[in-house]
Amino acid sequence: MERIFGRPIVTQEEMRARIKELGKQITADYAGKDLVLVGVLKGAYAFYADLARAIRIPMRVDFLIVASYGSRAKTSGKVKVITELTEDVRGKEVLLVEDIVDSGLTVQYLMKTLAKQKPRSIKVCTLLSKPDRRTIDVPLEYVGFKIPDQYVVGYGLDYQQKYRNLPYLAVLDMESNPE
Ligand code: 5GP
Repeated sequence: MERIFGRPIVTQEEMRARIKELGKQITADYAGKDLVLVGVLKGAYAFYADLARAIRIPMRVDFLIVASYGSRAKTSGKVKVITELTEDVRGKEVLLVEDIVDSGLTVQYLMKTLAKQKPRSIKVCTLLSKPDRRTIDVPLEYVGFKIPDQYVVGYGLDYQQKYRNLPYLAVLDMESNPE
């Protein structure tokens, strides 16, 4: 897989170090609180697993499976939530764990949907953010890395449902992978 993608833009070592920092910060911020860590699948699966283990407070885990329409290398702007939470989040602190925030539409939609279940708070932790692409101003409490406007794969992120298992983050080589 390395040959297709060339040099990683975020290496495994950088990822590990940053996630450790995020875990520390979240541990401090949510100490003594009733935290439910909600992962947005599939994209956040790798980040979620590492982040959850870097958080050192007792907390609940839960997941939403979300699909965006189409599987091309761009955001369609439409989101479909396939599953519901299994935890009752009423009165609890929800931290939404995302792989990447691009336009902001997905996060905005999920926050609105979750708010209906009346948690005490909803915040967002995203591994990646593309600030140049934002069309909606969504509050991001924790951001792993800000990246430029390039389509990235690996570490949970896909291209046509593949490459999620690439252990680092790389820019998609459009010449090897034409749409
Ligand atoms: P938003 O709703 O913020 O525009 O888009 C968020 C979703 O778009 C992400 O959860 C992800 O599925 C997809 N996305 C946006 N940028 C990228 C990217 O660079 N690589 C991949 N694999 N998916 C992306």
